[in-house]
Amino acid sequence: MKKTTGLDRSKTAKWRPATRAVRSGTWRSDHGETSEALYLTSGFTYDSAQEVADRFAGEASGMQYSRFQNPTVAMLEERIAAMEGAEACKAQASGMAAMTSALLCMLSQGDHVVAARAAFGSCRWILANVLNRFGITHTVVDGRDNAAWEAAVQENTKVFFFETPANPTLDIVDLEFVCGLAKSKGITTVVDNAFATAALQRPLEYGADVIAYSATKLMDGQGRVLCGAVCGSEQWVNEYLSPFQRNTGPVCSPFNAWVVMKGLETLDLRAHRQSENALAVGKFVEERVERVLHPGLPSFAQHNLAMKQMDACGPIFSFIVPGGRAKAFAVLDALELVDISNNIGDAKTLACHPASTTHNNMGEEGRAEMGVEEGMIRINVGLEDPQDLIEDLDQAFVKAGI
Ligand SMILES: *Cc1c(COP(=O)(O)O)cnc(C)c1O
Repeated sequence: MKKTTGLDRSKTAKWRPATRAVRSGTWRSDHGETSEALYLTSGFTYDSAQEVADRFAGEASGMQYSRFQNPTVAMLEERIAAMEGAEACKAQASGMAAMTSALLCMLSQGDHVVAARAAFGSCRWILANVLNRFGITHTVVDGRDNAAWEAAVQENTKVFFFETPANPTLDIVDLEFVCGLAKSKGITTVVDNAFATAALQRPLEYGADVIAYSATKLMDGQGRVLCGAVCGSEQWVNEYLSPFQRNTGPVCSPFNAWVVMKGLETLDLRAHRQSENALAVGKFVEERVERVLHPGLPSFAQHNLAMKQMDACGPIFSFIVPGGRAKAFAVLDALELVDISNNIGDAKTLACHPASTTHNNMGEEGRAEMGVEEGMIRINVGLEDPQDLIEDLDQAFVKAGI
């Protein structure tokens, strides 16, 4: 196979992110195909016994087994690494496989994690129900509060873990401050970048160490496959992530990798258009309900910080309808164009009630602490004409008596 662009930094380093999303990590076979090939194979064959021995000894490069590497998955990994500005990337079966691998591969008994409280429900679950069983403790902080990060650091703190913007309150973490604080104390920062993706925000530029992804969301972008990815330095990936993943097996299927790779080719276009659409729809919703949580709106408390570290505001926002769960359900049930779905990042506009779905397993107290109110609706704005979305929400508000 010819690596036409690969991770040859002399070539890709000067490309802008949109170009990397289309071109990086393209390996062509002798056929010279334009679209990346899909290698649906679990194993590989060798010309000699010595050749396979050399590969297992790490003395020769080449594929061995698709739990270790696969050409299609490797292409996706190179493309994501190039987009993120990372030295290395490994793809996983899902976003949660990525989060779990990123944390478990480097944490040991007695270690401590500081995490932002506004987070994807399962991320909080891992901290409380997996890591704690192995003697890894954590402190949850308000991710917006720089002083809280500083105050939560202990002698045994190994990792800062957060997403920004966060699900579903859109809380923004100050990347420059928090990553800088971690650096000064030798702490590894793990950022879940699923809401923004490299098209809108590149945390490594602010000093983050590890980027963990649900590629299921904006990266695929069309609601087709589950996929995850973790990016970091070559040394971190080789020392921690690769051996963990190779032996525990939460790997990405070649088919899913191929689908996501094709999704990445339109990511820049989609992420920017969906951000524009979200802003248009958000401005309309702001006229109808009192509170809209959307980083792109000047009314958002952290609007300036969001715009400093993001290229655009992203497709997702939340709003709170008066009247709690019953009214939120009434709005959702009255929607005709927008689908009720807990997924995000899709080209289709989707709305859900976080308190009863994505954040159901946190319990009432956890939700209250995180600001996930009963009247909250989260919306992922897709690629439809925003005027059609506004008209649909308008009729749903009217039907629900808002
Ligand atoms: C969806 C999501 C995840 C989990 O990803 P899956 O691909 O569903 O496993 C993690 N973090 C964030 C912010 C997400 O939106």
